[in-house]
Amino acid sequence: MNASDTITAHFRLTKPQIAALRRLGLITIADILRHFPARYERAGESSDISHLVAGQKVTLYGELSKLEAKRLWKSRRTATEGIFEDATGKVKVLWFNQPYIAKMAPQMQLVKLTGSVAGKNKPYITNPEIETLPPGFIPPVQSEKLFNVARSEPTPTSIFPVYPETRGITSRWFFHALERIFGSNTHITLEDPLPSNVRERYHLPDLSTSLMWAHKPEKESHAEVARKRFAFEEIFVLNVMRAKERAENDALPSFQIDNAKEHAVHFLESVSFKATRAQHVAIEDILADLKKNHPMARLLEGDVGSGKTLVAAATAYAIVNSRPRGQTFGTLQVGYMAPTEILATQHFQSFIEYFRHLPINIALITGSGCKKFPSRSHPEKATDISRSQLLKWVASGEIAMLVGTHTLIQKAVQFKHLAYAIVDEQHRFGTKQRRELARKGDKTPHFLSMTATPIPRTLALTMYGDLDLSILDELPPGRAKITTRIIKPNERSLAYEAVRTELAKGRQAFIICPRIEEPDPTKLNALQAKSAKAEAKRLKAEIFPEYRIGLLHGSVKTKEKDEVMRKFAAHEIDILVATSVVEVGINVPNATVMLIEGAERFGLAQLHQLRGRIMRSSHPPLCFLLPEKKGEMAMKRLKALEKSDNGFELAESDLETRGAGDLIGRKQWGMTDLGMEALKNIKLIRAARIEAAALIKEDPGLSKHSALKNRVASTSATSHQE
Ligand code: ADP
Ligand code: MG
Repeated sequence: MNASDTITAHFRLTKPQIAALRRLGLITIADILRHFPARYERAGESSDISHLVAGQKVTLYGELSKLEAKRLWKSRRTATEGIFEDATGKVKVLWFNQPYIAKMAPQMQLVKLTGSVAGKNKPYITNPEIETLPPGFIPPVQSEKLFNVARSEPTPTSIFPVYPETRGITSRWFFHALERIFGSNTHITLEDPLPSNVRERYHLPDLSTSLMWAHKPEKESHAEVARKRFAFEEIFVLNVMRAKERAENDALPSFQIDNAKEHAVHFLESVSFKATRAQHVAIEDILADLKKNHPMARLLEGDVGSGKTLVAAATAYAIVNSRPRGQTFGTLQVGYMAPTEILATQHFQSFIEYFRHLPINIALITGSGCKKFPSRSHPEKATDISRSQLLKWVASGEIAMLVGTHTLIQKAVQFKHLAYAIVDEQHRFGTKQRRELARKGDKTPHFLSMTATPIPRTLALTMYGDLDLSILDELPPGRAKITTRIIKPNERSLAYEAVRTELAKGRQAFIICPRIEEPDPTKLNALQAKSAKAEAKRLKAEIFPEYRIGLLHGSVKTKEKDEVMRKFAAHEIDILVATSVVEVGINVPNATVMLIEGAERFGLAQLHQLRGRIMRSSHPPLCFLLPEKKGEMAMKRLKALEKSDNGFELAESDLETRGAGDLIGRKQWGMTDLGMEALKNIKLIRAARIEAAALIKEDPGLSKHSALKNRVASTSATSHQE
């Protein structure tokens, strides 16, 4: 058996098993070795059937049989009845209102039962939970008769791996498959991607030992150390990948902008307000990068409303005022990519305002058409132009600044001298798209990515480790402070009254419908759409019949979405009912109140982002959080939003309490559970980063670390950022 062999070459599989393995992304023997247990089961305290006492909670090990769904004639309830048997006796078990149990529960197989004993004279057990046990599990109460199967397992130990639950394939299957794989010593042939000096520094076991300990631990500490090692490995590989990308970036030539500072200063003088300290610092960071002869790669993080556009504009200004080297005409070009058509159009307008005194052309490209400023016949205005005309002028360099949606990275768009690419809302665009942008001109452009998603510094350094970081951690002065209130379920009407008061003043409102957890993303959209639709209907019928209500959710088509947003912006809609899956990243300064249903289901950083949509005006904004449940933990968490309006603080707190899942889309990074968990561990992250940087410095091509090189290659193949 070789590690690279397919699983099907060595195991006979049923159709559901094949499908399950495919779903899990497991193809080769090596893949199985890296499919880690979700947890470990321990042989715990237990009772036996001969000692049952009514009212007691018990854990029993044994077999279920004779399961049967019944209708109880007295109460007309449905129930499932069955018999549970261990070495000491038999007892009746009863589930109320769970008729499906009869079909689902495993019969004639060793299981763990946890439930309450009822019945004084003749005890029975009600609504117990049933758990199938990992193979090899030896229950604390043993009997020759029942458990001879378990007895035959090779090495009885006290803890057992339990693999992630998936339809079609059992934990037992993995256990047996791994028995054979370990039996053939395949794990020993694998090369360790972690360099031995790194392993030694952090006292991490080598690959084959770690694989043994993860799947067949003899004691808990072994399983723990193995998990630590693989967590470190995952974060380390990610860091190596980023450091490598960064080194490749820095080896490329780019446009060196000579008088960048002068231009930027000139621009800032022309703006009616004073840049904040944070904006100054970020602009300085970028100007310093523009002087270098390799492309900038920078991430600008700043809360909604922190003024990222000004930073982009000041630095773009330097580019559109610079000539290509050795040329006495024309200018270098800027590409600005926004996530939606509306945002692209808004930014097009802003840049016209900022740059209208300059003798340059600014253009807009979106799915619905192209525009150019100034118009030949009306120099004060923008005009529609054909796509082919626009493409021609971009290619010839006549258009200095092109704003657009991701139409901007289409093949047809070619620049003459694209010197600066700006991407708004980085999380929408990955490294891959960035590379595409980089190929649009004669050299790799300087790259600035802007995001309002506050990601704690440690996390950003790992996830976006190929980018330098600038942070806007202050808001321009004069913003009205937001008031955030948690509303108890019985105070709902208060929130509606407050919304009504705002609406009466001619303002607009957002009502955000709850996030729904659903593993299947296609179903998720449908569910959330349903909840938003139902809520919009209810609000119209019962609460706000006199107002115009709009609806936005994940299943609405882009065109329609844009139309709803346009109407909201034009105040043709008073209340926008939306799900959080919809990017409501639009400037509607007249929207001053927001109500968030099911608030406890969101991360703090996400809630903060949502309420950022009403922090755009000088009117004091109001945000109401309506939790569905008032669990103490949830309340405590939400209280942080009443107190803090700092997105970074809130994100740090999310990272500690809820992990990284809320802050980065897990799927788009191809992270495992283990890796996600590790992202909470600042020490580990730091160590991985330092080691990765040192390694890439010494061996940039990873030529001396072939196993690591392979691992990096396969990791970048599986992380598909959109
Ligand atoms: P974001 O970071 O969310 O993209 P914007 O760039 O859209 O923020 O800025 C939000 C608003 O703040 C805009 O209306 C902008 O003109 C204004 N603004 C930006 N910087 C300043 C500043 N230094 N002083 C006052 N207003 C500012
Ligand atoms: Mg913005």
